[in-house]
Amino acid sequence: MEIACLDLEGVLVPEIWIGFAEKTGIEELKATTRDIPDYDVLMRQRLHLLKEHNLGLSDIQAVINELEPLPGALEFVTWLKQDFQLIILSDTFYEFSRPLMEQLNFPTLFCHRLISDANGRITDYKLRQPDPKRASVKALHDLNFRVIASGDSYNDTSMLEEADAGILFRAPENVIAEFPQYPAVAQYSDLKAEFIKASSSLFD
Ligand SMILES: [Mg+2]
Repeated sequence: MEIACLDLEGVLVPEIWIGFAEKTGIEELKATTRDIPDYDVLMRQRLHLLKEHNLGLSDIQAVINELEPLPGALEFVTWLKQDFQLIILSDTFYEFSRPLMEQLNFPTLFCHRLISDANGRITDYKLRQPDPKRASVKALHDLNFRVIASGDSYNDTSMLEEADAGILFRAPENVIAEFPQYPAVAQYSDLKAEFIKASSSLFD
């Protein structure tokens, strides 16, 4: 049996922080690791901005509730689950992703957690473990599953490397150029075809 490991943001749903920044009009929340490479510095800034704008967890979820999965994502996930056990490996937070996961019928998600106080204010965040995508694929291998993985960006490449087969989906040109060993596709129909191809080659 094979497990399909999918990245979330950029593959099934839009970039959540950017969508949230657009809905709230808080421009500074559009910063990503491209602008602030140190993830902890970036997250501290995000948490500071949420506090400054008096946004608690329920406000955030209400805003994110207005976001939708990418067109075709639900159909793709529904198709994938028929033949693969699907696990989504993401660097997002459970509390943030929930409204979007609901629209995808709650597939299994391994990600991180936000810490909030009794008043629903987010005070901190907790990463589950270092290099979580690679560690998850390794753990699945220990359970004797084969893994086919797909993601769109740098934070997915350790997962693709560890997997039995890796597929880039809607990756930027620089990522495609730097990792030519992976097929790169941009449509769900092509991603389906790559999953079928990878699965049949693993059975050979
Ligand atoms: Mg992504």
